[in-house]
Amino acid sequence: MNDGPDIRANLDSVRLRVDRAARRSGRDPSEITLVAVTKTVPVHLIEEAIRLGVTDIGENRVQEARAKFGAIQETVRWHMVGRLQSNKVGHALKIFELIHSLDRLSLASELDRIAGASGRPARVLVQVNVSGEATKSGVSPGETLAFLKEVSAFEHLSVEGLMTIAPLVPAEDTRSCFRALRRIFEEAASAGFPRVRMSYLSMGMTNDFEVAVEEGSNMIRLGTAIFGPRPVP
Ligand SMILES: *Cc1c(COP(=O)(O)O)cnc(C)c1O
Repeated sequence: MNDGPDIRANLDSVRLRVDRAARRSGRDPSEITLVAVTKTVPVHLIEEAIRLGVTDIGENRVQEARAKFGAIQETVRWHMVGRLQSNKVGHALKIFELIHSLDRLSLASELDRIAGASGRPARVLVQVNVSGEATKSGVSPGETLAFLKEVSAFEHLSVEGLMTIAPLVPAEDTRSCFRALRRIFEEAASAGFPRVRMSYLSMGMTNDFEVAVEEGSNMIRLGTAIFGPRPVP
């Protein structure tokens, strides 16, 4: 008896859906990175996903990520997708290759300080609160360019793109949110700030990843679609 999630079938289905969404919008599916979001998922299921080809793991809490990072031997890329507290930056930079959730200057400053001491730049995405929901972190769309300019002054930060979380509404209703972020992404790319490159557009979750891909996402973050529903906290 095995009543865990069928990760193989789930991944097959996700890959097919990403492929189709990419082709619909004239894009190459291979340019889209799948980040498997593993919050609350036990290590043995994460390892199964890795055996099935997952190369990028996303976590939203430093504490939980540390335990799993210690237990998982395979070489994968770790992504921090949740809100990062300044007092956890030291631990976070030991684990995560990319932090998707830079949302305030004080965090940029702490990342810069610790990255400077380690001799390795901190690679980050700026989180934008496109929908403006009070419960979501992120800089506001109208302030994003000014924020990028300010963080470009930090010499030990490598800003590599933007991230957003769309509201939980019918998938088609997220399109305007993704389109708005894509527009900011393009403006930021042509702004030419030092140490700011727009390489990654991190948008799309289980509810809305096909729309996000159609609107230009090249990094989708999927939990439920791969591992099934999470336990209600
Ligand atoms: C949990 C989480 C995800 C994955 O959510 P699903 O809806 O389960 O795919 C993606 N991004 C962030 C920031 C998350 O916290």
